Amino acid sequence: TVLIADPAARPLDVVADFPAIPPGWAYLDTAATAQKPRAVIDAITRGYDTDYATVHRGVYQRSADMTLAYEAARETVARFVNATPDEIVFVRGATEAINLVAQSFAATRLTAGDRILLSTLEHHSNIVPWQMVAERVGAAIDVVPLTADQRIDLDAMARMLRPEHKLVALAHVSNVLGSMLDVRRASELAHAAGATILIDGCQAVARLPVDVRALGCDFYVFSGHKLYGPTGIGVLWGRRALLDSMPPYQGGGSMIDRVSFERTTYAPAPTRFEAGTPHIVGALGLAAAIGYVQGIGLERIHAHETALVAQAREALGRINSVRVLGPADSAGIVSFAMEGVHPHDIGTILDESKVAIRAGHHCAQPLMAALGVEATARASFGVYNGPDDVAALAAGIERVARIFG
Ligand code: PMP
Repeated sequence: TVLIADPAARPLDVVADFPAIPPGWAYLDTAATAQKPRAVIDAITRGYDTDYATVHRGVYQRSADMTLAYEAARETVARFVNATPDEIVFVRGATEAINLVAQSFAATRLTAGDRILLSTLEHHSNIVPWQMVAERVGAAIDVVPLTADQRIDLDAMARMLRPEHKLVALAHVSNVLGSMLDVRRASELAHAAGATILIDGCQAVARLPVDVRALGCDFYVFSGHKLYGPTGIGVLWGRRALLDSMPPYQGGGSMIDRVSFERTTYAPAPTRFEAGTPHIVGALGLAAAIGYVQGIGLERIHAHETALVAQAREALGRINSVRVLGPADSAGIVSFAMEGVHPHDIGTILDESKVAIRAGHHCAQPLMAALGVEATARASFGVYNGPDDVAALAAGIERVARIFG
């Protein structure tokens, strides 16, 4: 799904929907977490203010209403990625979703000698859970390298895949470089080798239209807070047959069929994976966030961010000491390095001119090693950004160059 940005695309001009973004503040850290539109804040407020009650247990009307709203949120999420509600598991975030699949799927099926395939650019949350499982069962991990323009190298992946690879886990969009993955091809390659494939969609869902059926993967995970929704809520999508075949990840209330001290049976998916009282209002906030981005349209958002990335790469590329990383068509994210300047200094100086970027390893230390840097500076865009933010970024970087030059 490489969409071509319409160069005539008008800026979205929705910053007024975001009360936490004051005029003149260039918020360029959406890849870490997105700011919240009023519609999401209102849904959360309403959830606690007038509508609050628990779900799934109450016999009174308020709880029955909240249960309907919570399940309606699951339907909204399902429609958003072209899935069915019984394939949508609410979790705390992408991190928990990946740990769930690692513990419930991988740890119960992989045995000594099996292999897991990851890529160089994965976020730590798509590395560490697999390492923990691999260590437990005696499996090994292989790493797909990057192409010269810093995408996951699917030709290399095709050569690497062996029957021992039982699981492949890759990012749809890199949180550092913005590199987009051809998920359909990656899924075909994985399946041809008999492997199950999980896609980390954290950075993709807010930047590209996502249709899990068209992508052809087996699991797809994302966090609500990067999609303009609340923290503490995220999504695991899994094929129905896979979810049904997986044992529970955590035990507790709500996930059972019957409990006795002799024997407990479990509810079907997705309930089986939602032990305990869920983040009820978080689900409502996430549904409101999905409504918000769909109101704008993911194609428009993608075109908007692609235009901003092109402007940023062009403006930064003109500054001598700057090395812009990642492929030219990256999705909403631009990482860069400056000769002789630590990214933390870049971030601190930019903050003085009200430009908020991220500096560090971005929870991707293996990628930093492959790029040959300690850390990068990263500007990432959202619906509320415009050309003025790119101009503020470029002016700030020119100032950094003068200070250190
Ligand atoms: N994967 C990617 C690509 C990410 O960008 C992030 C968040 N930075 C995560 C996984 C983890 O998400 P969370 O911390 O919300 O669980």
